[in-house]
Amino acid sequence: ADIFGSDRKNSKGLNMNIISESEPFFAAIEQFKNTQWQAGPLVNGKTLTGEHKTIVSPYDTTQTVGQVAFADDAAIEQALASAEAAFASWARTPVETRASALQKLADLLEENREELIALCTREAGKSIQDGIDEVREAVDFCRYYAVQAKKMMAKPELLPGPTGELNELFLQGRGVFVCISPWNFPLAIFLGQVSAALAAGNTVIAKPAEQTSIIGYRAVQLAHQAGIPVEVLQFLPGTGATVGSAITADERIGGVCFTGSTGTAKLINRTLANRDGAIIPLIAETGGQNAMVVDSTSQPEQVVNDVVSSSFTSAGQRCSALRVLFLQEDIADRVIEVLQGAMDELVIGNPSSVKTDVGPVIDATAKANLDAHIDHIKQVGKLIKQMPLPAGTENGHFVSPTAVEIDSIKVLEKEHFGPILHIIRYNAAELSQVINEINSTGFGLTLGIHSRNEGHALEVADKVNVGNVYINRNQIGAVVGVQPFGGQGLSGTGPKAGGPHYLTRFVTEKTRTNNI
Ligand code: GLU
Repeated sequence: ADIFGSDRKNSKGLNMNIISESEPFFAAIEQFKNTQWQAGPLVNGKTLTGEHKTIVSPYDTTQTVGQVAFADDAAIEQALASAEAAFASWARTPVETRASALQKLADLLEENREELIALCTREAGKSIQDGIDEVREAVDFCRYYAVQAKKMMAKPELLPGPTGELNELFLQGRGVFVCISPWNFPLAIFLGQVSAALAAGNTVIAKPAEQTSIIGYRAVQLAHQAGIPVEVLQFLPGTGATVGSAITADERIGGVCFTGSTGTAKLINRTLANRDGAIIPLIAETGGQNAMVVDSTSQPEQVVNDVVSSSFTSAGQRCSALRVLFLQEDIADRVIEVLQGAMDELVIGNPSSVKTDVGPVIDATAKANLDAHIDHIKQVGKLIKQMPLPAGTENGHFVSPTAVEIDSIKVLEKEHFGPILHIIRYNAAELSQVINEINSTGFGLTLGIHSRNEGHALEVADKVNVGNVYINRNQIGAVVGVQPFGGQGLSGTGPKAGGPHYLTRFVTEKTRTNNI
């Protein structure tokens, strides 16, 4: 039986181990090797020009990717006014029509896969495999929310009532939804937010992260091509301080969906509270201080495989990434020894090469902060491994994959969003302290557990307050409809992206009692 139901299947992506898939892919992606894209605000379907910013590749800042014009006050005003005006008719457009435009968008993403993956590598510095996964996830989000919206919204829910009285519950869009997305999933999270808001009957103002405006621009062009009306989906590239703060402070918006730092989520919350007008929802998915707890029944090679993938995939730039590895004393030396060997094998370099495991981080600021943390934490703890950066990385924002042993999670005052793993030893008798220590961070996103003692694993899974628990595997790469993604506490508000309750926060409810 099909576990997803007959109405939907997750995208297969591409398998680079199959020559009949990888050869045509590499031939096709070649044509985007030197493309210079021009992007800007898309307001009512027109690309606006203005002051341009040149986008350079994070892995080699001497290479340009294109130019982007940021939205000015006039563009912001026009986008808000048009999105507000378009809401009444979009909310009344049959959900089947909204859903089929999103299905079409998913098809167009697959048709344009090579260009989008080229942008993931060149603009965001993501590896080829990350790019493949990114497009796959974006496709899944579009199809998933299309199906969910139809399930939830095609017909009102009938409610009981006395004879002669018809009671119905309707779900409808809330208005203009502001979608503010991060650079680490510049297509998947960007379109995940946008497709959910659109499926539910909202009009949308999409603000991409300023570092990855071009791929957002291409995604919005494809959405328009798929049949999303141009007034319904407006695109405003720019910084958080200018565009982000202006659109979240505006009285005309009906909700905000945000993925990024906890600090910015709180800032948006304050802005929403202080503005005039309605009380509106904020859906925020933020950071983590994600742990993995490994006991002495685990298999060291399997642990290390999952640790390396959880900590260093995407250069550690995932909210889900492993930051703090708790190793039971009896197994710690062996795991650390295998880990040192495995880190030696990591290929660091140009993300456009299929061999690369670890590419650059997003920009100079990120690199400076991560390098400073490595310098600091090496003083506080004991260095386990710091990979040298190979030749050819000098022009990029590369950070050495690093592992450091520390005494307590408390020495990490915040999330360090990069390829840095912290290791803490514990004794079997201290397990409840480990659980308390993880919970004491206030974050609650992902948790990894390695154990062959099922009772033990389930106890840790139960007691640590997180959104996503992974037992005996890595803790990244949540799949739409399979591991709905999102946390609690400082990690976000929920509901989970790619899960059955996500759309509930994008709608308002209306009952109609009809005394016929
Ligand atoms: N959903 C992604 C994962 O499971 C992480 C999303 C994020 O970094 O915001 O790896």
